[in-house]
Order: sequence, then C-alpha cells, then structure tokens
Amino acid sequence: MTDKVRVRFAPSPTGSLHIGGARTALFNLLFARHNNGVFVLRIEDTDTERSREESVAQILRSMRWLGLDWDEGPEKGGDYGPYFQSQRLELYRREAQRLLDEGKAYYCYCTPEELAARREEMMKAGKAPRYEGLCRNLCDEDRKRYEAEGRKPVIRLKVPQEGQTVVEDIIRGTVVFENSVLDDFIIMKSNGVPTYNFACVVDDHAMKITHVIRAEEHLSNTPKQIQVYKALGYELPRFAHVPMILAPDRSKLSKRHGATSVEEFRDQGYLSQAIINYLTLLGWSPLDSEEIFDMDKAVREFTLERVNKTAAIYDVKKLTWI
Ligand code: GLU
Repeated sequence: MTDKVRVRFAPSPTGSLHIGGARTALFNLLFARHNNGVFVLRIEDTDTERSREESVAQILRSMRWLGLDWDEGPEKGGDYGPYFQSQRLELYRREAQRLLDEGKAYYCYCTPEELAARREEMMKAGKAPRYEGLCRNLCDEDRKRYEAEGRKPVIRLKVPQEGQTVVEDIIRGTVVFENSVLDDFIIMKSNGVPTYNFACVVDDHAMKITHVIRAEEHLSNTPKQIQVYKALGYELPRFAHVPMILAPDRSKLSKRHGATSVEEFRDQGYLSQAIINYLTLLGWSPLDSEEIFDMDKAVREFTLERVNKTAAIYDVKKLTWI
C-alpha cells in the first residue's frame, strides 16, 4: 500500500446530498488535507433502478458549493469528473471471474421465489433465515440443467462459516462478527452488475484507498467486505465508521426536524461557510472550546481520534446564529 493517504467519498445517487453525507465527505476531505493526501469522489451508481442523473448533479453541485473539492477523476472538458461505478463494470466482472476461476466464488441458480420459500420454511422452523450454500457444490449436470431451463445465475462468495471476522476500527475500536451470520453473499447479480459490497472493495483497492471513512450504518457491511478483500488477496485499508447524526429527541433524522439537505440550506440563504463550521463540530471535538471553524483551521486540527464515539445530535437552531 502507498504511504500517501488516499480517502474517498462514495455516495449513491439516490437523492440529494444530506447533512449526514456532507459531513462524511467533509471528514474525508479534512483528513486528506491534514495528511497531504488525496480525496477521491466516486459515484456508486450501479443500482440502475434507484440511481438518478438528477441526484448526481445535485450531489456535485452541493459539494462544489460547500467547497468539498475532490482531487482526481477522469478528464472531462478541461476539468475532471468523479469516478462512476457504472463505467467500471468490466473491472468488477474481471475480478468476479478471477474468484470463480480460483474456486472462491460460485454460480448460484436459486430463483428469488425458491429462496423466499426456503426462508419461510426456516422461519417456521424457528431458525434465522439464511442462504445455506445450496449451489456451493453443484455438479456439472445440475448446472447444465439449470442453464437449459434458462436460469440466470448470480455469483456468490464462499464465506467460511466458522470463526470470526474482526474489524479494527479507528473510531469504534475492535468489533467482532461471527462468520456464521455472514452467509455466502451475492457479489454479482444475474444481470452482470456487482453488489455494493463487491464493487466497493474492488474500487477501494483499485483506487489505492488507505482509509475508509464512512457512516456507521456501514459497519455491518465491513466484515463482508473484509471477506472480499481476503478472497481477492488485497491488503486491507484502515476503517473509521463515523457515528450517526440523530435528531434532538434522539430519533432518526428526517424532514420533520427541519432542513436536512445541503440544497435546502443554500436556498434558504445560509452561507456555505456556516454549514462547514456547523458540520465540522457535528460529532467532532476541537482541541479548545473554539466554536468558529473555517476550512483552513479545520484542516489544521482534524484527526480521526477526536471524532466522537457516540451519535451526534443535529439541531438546526444551532445554525441560525452564525
Ligand atoms: N454508496 C454507499 C452509500 O452511499 C457508500 C458506502 C461507503 O462509503 O462504503 O452509503
């Protein structure tokens, strides 16, 4: 792995940039700048049903407005765009093929209906529903029969069912997951498009990402991703999962708690500087009790060690005095 710090913000374009995403992007940028590193923007748009061009445009606009400037990407008219996963499908297919060739992944022909029926049976029997590795050891004959029936297979990763996967997280410390809960999860869908956990790992490796800084909601994906790293023979990055942002009543943040998207703030006349200041202090503790942070000061002082370990409380009223 290179010594140079390389981080990324990897939004899925399924909506506009929200306060949570903006804070994740900001923490990545501050960490990169503080360490003379590189900040990469990657649009995770492989979910064709949920991805929207309009959301891509909104996210880019919001990032530019906030001054969250990314450092590299494919050339585009004198400027450079972000990376788009939808333009990198060949790479994911190649890596999935490598896992198949090495016997670390396999084709699964089970239909969604069959899997749903099996899940129901397991639940009725009082068992936690899971994929039981039905297609792990298919013989050629079965495979041919399924192909002849016109079934389109997915590709699943072989995950060891014994032992544990340990996530060493810079913010959360050591988090242990039992492998028995991981299942042989899907890495490529039947339409040849990768799942998030697979594409994310292939790209983080290809883009030489050294630190994966993202929202805590992804912590449960991390053991799966570690299994993908191991199978592909990639070196692990460092992980840092940033605690959630909750509403003042500690419920999940939603529209009823006031403006939550960056564009709403812009339209209401807030200065981007005020948003940056607020986001810097949302779940991050400065060295002193200073309450005004511009980007330069935040860059100088930012370390992951001072990201709070508990949820941040979002209170839009705190923004108004700036
Ligand atoms: N596309 C994911 C999201 O928007 C990114 C997760 C990650 O940073 O790995 O939540």
